[in-house]
Amino acid sequence: MKIVAPKGTRDILPPEINKWHYIESIIREVMNLYSFYEIRTPIFEYTELFQRGIGDTTDIVNKEMYTFLDKKGRSITLRPENTASVVRAYIEHKMYGLGGVGKFYYIGPMFRYERPQAGRQRQFHQYGMEIIGTKDPKADVEIIKATEEIYKRLGFTDYKILINSVGCPKCRPYYEEELKLYLKDKYDQLCDDCKVRYHKNPLRILDCKREGCRRATESAPKIIDYLCEECKIHFEKVLSYLDALNIKYEINHRLVRGLDYYTKTAFEVIAGGLGAQDAVGGGGRYDGLAQEIGGKEIPGVGFAGGMERLILALSHAGIEFPREDIQDLFVVFREEVEKEAFALIFRLREKGVKADYALGKKSIKAQLKEADKKGVKYVVIIGEEEVEKKILTLKNMETGEGKKITEKELYKLFEKE
Ligand code: AMP
Repeated sequence: MKIVAPKGTRDILPPEINKWHYIESIIREVMNLYSFYEIRTPIFEYTELFQRGIGDTTDIVNKEMYTFLDKKGRSITLRPENTASVVRAYIEHKMYGLGGVGKFYYIGPMFRYERPQAGRQRQFHQYGMEIIGTKDPKADVEIIKATEEIYKRLGFTDYKILINSVGCPKCRPYYEEELKLYLKDKYDQLCDDCKVRYHKNPLRILDCKREGCRRATESAPKIIDYLCEECKIHFEKVLSYLDALNIKYEINHRLVRGLDYYTKTAFEVIAGGLGAQDAVGGGGRYDGLAQEIGGKEIPGVGFAGGMERLILALSHAGIEFPREDIQDLFVVFREEVEKEAFALIFRLREKGVKADYALGKKSIKAQLKEADKKGVKYVVIIGEEEVEKKILTLKNMETGEGKKITEKELYKLFEKE
């Protein structure tokens, strides 16, 4: 039987990988400009990190984790997201001791055992950013602004920012009680999952996509009317800073996010043309997370965006990506002078000319065909005569023009190009 890639995973092949490199370079550019520094944490962690960090009542922890025992019987989980790991690393390396606030970003694969569909995979990739060590609402807005800046540089405009506050452990329980009270006589309309959520995590009923649950929660009380003074002021400040930066947003009372560790600000970015899986990213504040995983009380705020979904959204918006797989020059040669041609290719490369050639092809015609297929602009043709006279035949594949040129002149040409 033929072996194929596991269900829910995808090979990223050239030239698609161009898109990834391009987006990643813009992310790095913006992150660098905003003084966020890259952090790379392990792909797997002790399972407990996610159980305690993300929360036992979430779908991720309950249903979606790739968990296994290693050879010593320790429970290991492939990371389903990166925030818990970044906070773990921050505590483990006592980075709070460095003084100031930690600003990090990451790009990498995450793993969730979900039902694969368009825009949803079991191995997918996220880029994300975290600001750890401050409660300042400006940090929440900086994260949102950085997200927008990345989109702006990509030329992406077909998105909407949704925002809400999910309160804190002080005020959220009051709201949860209110919500439960409101839903008490609508309990039978709820789906089976939401019946469980009603007892364990009622907030999540608000973002259930099922028709019955949507109807049941249509006129439910709004969490922002139940925030404590601290959460209310925080939310107002976030909105006022967003206004100051001219960032457009929509307050969405259903937005609660899938992870338990969020406090105060929660936000999500949805994009056009993606169908059901329209969230290209989401984030929020997680002031309780560090304590949850055994550290001190260290506030934080972050965002994670899906790479695959962003690429889908950009493609849908008709955004073009610069290609990186086009060579400057193709060297075509007769077999008799292959050693001379081979040496020339590396001299060209040393000078920074992206020169390539056809491996395993003998006839000039086949080599030219390959150059043409690869969309190369210039071809250099070498035969015995050229080697003898130390001259090259240069052909412009776009105009069909040909001329004789010395190696020195060739370097000059590419310096100009
Ligand atoms: P979350 O950590 O659930 O807030 O996810 C943040 C972003 O990651 C989402 O908005 C999606 O863009 C992306 N994402 C989450 N789960 C998947 C998945 N299974 N497949 C592809 N992208 C995903």
